[in-house]
Amino acid sequence: MSFSKPNRSSATKTKTRIEPAPISGMCVTCLDGCPGPCEIGRSAINGRQTIYPQPYGKITAGADKDYPLDYSHFNIQGTCVGAVGVAADSDVATFPSVDCNTSLGADGSIKMDFPVFTGAVGSTYIARVNWEDIAVGAAISGVIVVAGENICGMDKDAEFKNGKIVKSPEMERRVSAYRRWDEGKGGIIVQANVEDTKLGVPEYVIEKLGVEIFELKWGQGAKDIGGEVQLNTMERALQLNDRGYIVLPNPTTPSAKKAFESGGIKEFERHSRLGMVEEEGFYNEVARLRKLGAKYVTLKTGAYRPVDLARAIKFASNAKIDLLTIDGAGGGTGMSPWRMMNEWGIPTVYLECLMYQMCQRLEAQGAYIPPIAIAGGLTLEDHIFKALALGAPYVKAICLGRAIMAAAMVGKTNGKLTADKMEVEGKSVEDGFMSLFAVGAQLKERFGNEFGNLPAGAIGMYSYIERLRQGLQQLMAGARKFRLEYIDRNDLVSLTREASDVSGIPYVMDCDKTEIDRILG
Ligand code: SF4
Repeated sequence: MSFSKPNRSSATKTKTRIEPAPISGMCVTCLDGCPGPCEIGRSAINGRQTIYPQPYGKITAGADKDYPLDYSHFNIQGTCVGAVGVAADSDVATFPSVDCNTSLGADGSIKMDFPVFTGAVGSTYIARVNWEDIAVGAAISGVIVVAGENICGMDKDAEFKNGKIVKSPEMERRVSAYRRWDEGKGGIIVQANVEDTKLGVPEYVIEKLGVEIFELKWGQGAKDIGGEVQLNTMERALQLNDRGYIVLPNPTTPSAKKAFESGGIKEFERHSRLGMVEEEGFYNEVARLRKLGAKYVTLKTGAYRPVDLARAIKFASNAKIDLLTIDGAGGGTGMSPWRMMNEWGIPTVYLECLMYQMCQRLEAQGAYIPPIAIAGGLTLEDHIFKALALGAPYVKAICLGRAIMAAAMVGKTNGKLTADKMEVEGKSVEDGFMSLFAVGAQLKERFGNEFGNLPAGAIGMYSYIERLRQGLQQLMAGARKFRLEYIDRNDLVSLTREASDVSGIPYVMDCDKTEIDRILG
């Protein structure tokens, strides 16, 4: 059975004429005369544009490859005996009393009300237009928001001096949108890649904007090349080419100009460069960021081969990094090559199991293990529980990239519809939001007159996180674990032998054998 579905996908708006062959994905009979709705056919007309999910800027995309192992291959164990972290008393050990607070940072001083944070909300159009909703949603939910790579470099109004950024209105907007609602829980992380570092983004955001948490980015789960966006005007293509990005096709060439003018190509692509990880260079950069004033330095790595995961964990340990985010294959992003998103990298469950083995080895040597976050296709409370348990005691938080964006976008969309309706009916938008959102009354009580200034997307994100909180509390109460730190690997059971082989979590029929023998004799 093939795990993949090549040559047709809703992501690339392609399909086959008739039933596809499983391996090639081509129609079992390819007809001379077919206009070519499949990926090969569209490539014959649109060329490289067919590589990417569509429509660019309006969607996030997630891999649809059905990997041999995922989190559904584990179930959460429950018990009817006792309670951990609270008195074993039915009147005390209730699910609403489960504590979901967590902390990150080498010294545990980044406090979070819930163990999730956003994906990197970077320079793609969809990230930019939804920033305020997501940043405010993070602030009022007490979780972290991540400002992704290339924000300054993509800012059309940015000012540079000697090739270094001196002002970025877009980055300032991002930071101030979060700070306006910040109540001291969670935080804002700003990421840097190769271009950001060249442009002096760390100096600018740490020294001038006072950003405290700075993230070095080795990669992500959706692709193993740098970030990319599409540019639909010649001016933007030339501007970003001048700023040192790789722009394809090269907009300074006559052939590219002609192709754009004639409509043969409708967009240019802006690509970031590949990072070149090197041990000493990494330690030096961490030390430099701390010297610049970064209170916390974090690292994000992607679904690279196992030896690179070992590098990330070892270097992060030596440099006493405050958070290491490990992003597995199978998740998604705002823009990545579609086939790459599906066919490269180590899927999240395998990557987390490798991480666990590596952390155990380092811990046995007495090494520092940074707080770890797992990302890559995770969306709901059972995913959160399983990812925390599978990587316990090292995993402290879960990155919910596309899911959090979806909640914010849905909140925004419905908020706009409601606001329009209220306007027509001559009623207040605030009343409209109170009746639209289940958490409306709760937030009104908390924020009073400021409630009306909350972006609808932020309310949607908050509401989604509130749902996750209750869902996680219920799962934890069922496992009789009343604080996150008590979740461990024994809270999971493998449903297949393969899941057990990969993870070391006992197969369901082998579980609890010693205790069973003790009870039954
Ligand atoms: S060109 Fe047409 S017939 Fe051939 S594989 Fe593509 S969709 Fe099928």
